[in-house]
Amino acid sequence: MYQAKACSVASATAPFTRTTIERRDPGPRDVQLEILFCGICHSDLHQARNEWSGMPTVYPCVPGHEIVGRVTRVGAAVTKFAPGDRVGVGCMVDSDGSCPQCQEHFEQFCPGAVFTYNSPDRHTGKVTYGGYSDSVVVDERFVLRVPGNLDLAGAAPLLCAGITTWSPMRRQGVGKGQKVGVVGLGGLGHMGVKFARALGAQVVVFTTTAGKKADALRLGAHEVVVSRDAGEMGKHAGTFDFILDTVSARHDLGAYLHLLRRGGNLTLVGAPDEPHAVPAFGLILGNKSLSGSLIGGIRETQEMLDFCGEHGITSDVEVIPVQQIDQAYERLLRQDVKYRFSIDMASLRAG
Ligand code: NAP
Ligand code: ZN
Repeated sequence: MYQAKACSVASATAPFTRTTIERRDPGPRDVQLEILFCGICHSDLHQARNEWSGMPTVYPCVPGHEIVGRVTRVGAAVTKFAPGDRVGVGCMVDSDGSCPQCQEHFEQFCPGAVFTYNSPDRHTGKVTYGGYSDSVVVDERFVLRVPGNLDLAGAAPLLCAGITTWSPMRRQGVGKGQKVGVVGLGGLGHMGVKFARALGAQVVVFTTTAGKKADALRLGAHEVVVSRDAGEMGKHAGTFDFILDTVSARHDLGAYLHLLRRGGNLTLVGAPDEPHAVPAFGLILGNKSLSGSLIGGIRETQEMLDFCGEHGITSDVEVIPVQQIDQAYERLLRQDVKYRFSIDMASLRAG
């Protein structure tokens, strides 16, 4: 075991404080990395504040699952990585590797999946601690390669916001000739816009924040709709092949089902604890479908990173020091994020 620096919360209402945590020394198949940047996902806020009734938070909690850094040590049996490599770690750090979910590259659904934080840690007997830290040790199967041309601060959010929006778009065959909607222009939403555009779709952003219109167009949207305006919404009725809903709070799904064409799909990735109301006729009339999607498997995450390398895609980030995590959380709640916070871990090392 060794001591790593980290930022943790002690309760659902406590501010972040600097602390030290125990990490395991790298075993034969482990990679140790120096964390350079970690994105702030709205899921970090849900978990730190114990907002998910199905996944109670164990305190102290060290969030963070959008991790990029450099490899510092590797175990003797590691074959894919060497010290100095630029790497990433997303929402998972382990799985059983043998169940049908793992064999079909859906490690996130493995009954033995270990998530990057707030998951039982068989090495320490505590819970896993995430990326708001200066280093981490992860089984090499869960370490991703970050293409050399990508800015690391902007690449960090690809490890969750990136894969979470990429995966359902690939599953739905998003591409040329399709009209795609993205609901909510935050961390996930802005990545959804970039991917839908890069895949060749006609992209429409739905936002509650009229002030984000110019940014949405700059990020790649062809059109922007202020979703509180019923007239603007009505113009798009029955026209969308696919809508990706990234909203972090309960809202009216019927309004978006109404915009799908016959056979169209609305996929939820936003994860409020409160249930949504779903109007049966919103689905029945037009053979429409409503789906959900959880991050993505490791193979698909690498494919997404490689696509980002080829197309020069990163997240638009506001880089902050660890001292500003609490303010960043407050700004997330005010929908004031442009469009992901990325924590510079040099600020943790310095103190
Ligand atoms: P975020 O950066 O805070 O963005 C969420 C956006 O949703 C906001 O910027 C806002 O966009 C819109 N919004 C927020 N409250 C709203 C409300 N009351 N009504 C309508 N729109 C509202 O959050 P994020 O990091 O992108 O995460 C979004 C959600 O996805 C969270 O619930 C998170 O836990 C979840 N998530 C799920 C997965 C998965 O695997 N399924 C992975 C990561 C995150 P506008 O200002 O444009 O309206
Ligand atoms: Zn996330």
